[in-house]
Amino acid sequence: MIKLHYLRVYAFSIRQVHSQIAILGGGTAGLNVAAQLIADGHAIPQQIRIFEPMKMHTYQPGWTMVGGGLYDINKTLQPMEKVLPKNVIVSDSPVTKINPEENQIQTFDGQKYTYDQLVVATGIRTDFDQIKGARKYLEDPNSPVASIYHYKYASKMNRLVDEFEGGKLVFSEPQMPIKCGGAPQKIVYLSQDRLRKRGIKFDIHFYKTVALIFGVPKYAEILTDVCQRKQINCHFKQKLVEVQDHIAIFEDQDTKELKSVTFDLLHLVPPQVPAKFIAASGLGDAAGFCNVHPNTLQHIKYKNIWSLGDCSSLPTSKTAAAVMAQTPILVKNLIRTWKKGLEPIPSYQGYTSCPIFTSQSTLLLAEFKYNSELDETFPIFQSNESRLMFYLKKDFFPFAYWQFMVKGLWGGRDGFRFFKGA
Ligand SMILES: Cc1cc2nc3c(=O)[nH]c(=O)nc-3n(C[C@H](O)[C@H](O)[C@H](O)COP(=O)(O)OP(=O)(O)OC[C@H]3O[C@@H](n4cnc5c(N)ncnc54)[C@H](O)[C@@H]3O)c2cc1C
Repeated sequence: MIKLHYLRVYAFSIRQVHSQIAILGGGTAGLNVAAQLIADGHAIPQQIRIFEPMKMHTYQPGWTMVGGGLYDINKTLQPMEKVLPKNVIVSDSPVTKINPEENQIQTFDGQKYTYDQLVVATGIRTDFDQIKGARKYLEDPNSPVASIYHYKYASKMNRLVDEFEGGKLVFSEPQMPIKCGGAPQKIVYLSQDRLRKRGIKFDIHFYKTVALIFGVPKYAEILTDVCQRKQINCHFKQKLVEVQDHIAIFEDQDTKELKSVTFDLLHLVPPQVPAKFIAASGLGDAAGFCNVHPNTLQHIKYKNIWSLGDCSSLPTSKTAAAVMAQTPILVKNLIRTWKKGLEPIPSYQGYTSCPIFTSQSTLLLAEFKYNSELDETFPIFQSNESRLMFYLKKDFFPFAYWQFMVKGLWGGRDGFRFFKGA
């Protein structure tokens, strides 16, 4: 009996486990793809294996609102098993390598898996360690350093602004690409408005690594006015490289000179990088992002590999809104090529959106596509800061995410999804 047991364990450990569809990452993109494949009747849950090491699914767009004092952190976190489609197979060891020639995935625990179709959706990793000293001060509850790019440090930001008694606030923004390129400035405007309402004396400085306030001219003009009106001092081409006790050190991007800036509160945003295994598996572009066709989302070299979301090479701003637009196109193209032997349709034009809080009650909804071209849904409300758009972002988007997206029923700006077959 005992021998038979060992035999079974041995047989399991040497067998390569096969899945028809393997999805790497159970974040916004991986979850949305799985949910839509099932909702549209393309797959049953047991045909899908999701590789996801985290126990919690995070609604990251909520973290700006948490840091800005508008939202409860608990509303941004849900146990993974509650949001993943019922009966999909989950592997919780991180993926370490793909062998695309053999259709094989390897995980950290040494297990190997094979697939017919592979969707790479592993997001982009926040790399706080690229800023010397950042972790030490972020982790110290008594230090006035926070970041909305982590749920713990987002709550800390909320507390620090609540307790702030006056002085100098410094905000940083790293080199692109990062997830939600607008978030580093949303928290500037939200914090400014909170302190203004409390009648506190303060001085705000916003240090950006790039030379522009925003990449789309129409919104850049509006945001420049916002900064002037709110007396926010913008400093361009300045990259945060080190944090010390109440001192931030910036590197000038032209001269490479280092400058020490004192602060009473520092909000920092970490540089961000794709998972290393993408490049190590021969799937990456020059920067290590999964190299897919910008309009079909199919891998440039391997026809049964697809990618979307933050880890993909798609040259658009990395947002959940972009994922909502990409998912139905990826699902459709995957099914067309796999089940019907047809060519993928090049229909993704880079749609993305960035809802920029400009105060505790207003928002500028930026929507654009490839080459920073405008692609607006509500142009009337998008030429200035809007209260209506504020409530859409604060209350409706999170509701649609948790109620519809996780069930494959949310099409982003297309609204509620009914069946959208291949
Ligand atoms: C502060 C902040 C504010 C934002 N604001 C907005 C906003 O207002 N609007 C908007 O649309 N978007 C916003 N975003 C961006 C949005 O959250 C992301 O674009 C979106 O989550 C991308 O989805 P994704 O699935 O590609 O990545 P993620 O949601 O990050 O998921 C990636 C998943 O892959 C998993 N993974 C990583 N490596 C491996 C591995 N080796 N093996 C297996 N699994 C792995 C991770 O654990 C994770 O669960 C914001 C993000 C932040 C941080």
